[in-house]
Amino acid sequence: MIEGPTKNSWLHTSPVFPPGEWSAGWTDSGGPDFSPDPASTSQASVVTELVEAIGLEKAAWAKQVHGATIVRVSRPGLAGEADGLWTDIPGLGVIGRSADCPLVLVGGKRRDGSRVWGFTHASWRSTIQGITGKLVGLITDAGTDPTTLTATICPSAGPCCYEVGPEVLEAAVTLLGSEVRKFFHGAGTRWILDLWALNTAQLTAAGVSPGSIHIAGKCTICGGSRYPSYRRDGADAGRFAAIIGWNQLRNSP
Ligand SMILES: [Zn+2]
Repeated sequence: MIEGPTKNSWLHTSPVFPPGEWSAGWTDSGGPDFSPDPASTSQASVVTELVEAIGLEKAAWAKQVHGATIVRVSRPGLAGEADGLWTDIPGLGVIGRSADCPLVLVGGKRRDGSRVWGFTHASWRSTIQGITGKLVGLITDAGTDPTTLTATICPSAGPCCYEVGPEVLEAAVTLLGSEVRKFFHGAGTRWILDLWALNTAQLTAAGVSPGSIHIAGKCTICGGSRYPSYRRDGADAGRFAAIIGWNQLRNSP
């Protein structure tokens, strides 16, 4: 699948959220830097830049804390501490920030034509708490037809590079059972965790059709300077963002 071009070279869209139907995508290092404190006015100004570029009216974001809390938002601005946000308010986007952790975008349609959408910040801690499957459950419970659900896993630390210690494997087995071992490759004290596959498994287990999931497949760690990487660049790494929303007038099929 080909990712679509946009007016801004730093903004990328997903084939499962085509620009005619959704206002969704992610930025790269050439775009606004999302590293300011989520409560600061400079964060609000980069949000405005992204919202305008993607064709929405406003957006909500969160202070991400590697937990499993997902908040339903109905107004723009900082929504408190959470690692997932969802809404069904036309024109209102939800924004996640990242420098290695997968941001997962999910959207679906109701029978009356309205839509529901959200994202997760699927760090290993949030992923082993099942955050992405939980988001699909919330969007389904909000009345979407499960056959319309689509999802994208944005650029993030890939299975080529994402090394974790044995304590991560141990924590994952404790929360998800020994079946989760298949997402870890390695031995002893060096393990590679495939967060793309683990989040994909949560999406499909929650009812998203495998053919409706797009994995961007770009690794932030080994992908050069295209995306900020905390693992590669440490505390000086910037942050990029992903956004999803729907605008009744712009995105009607
Ligand atoms: Zn890599």
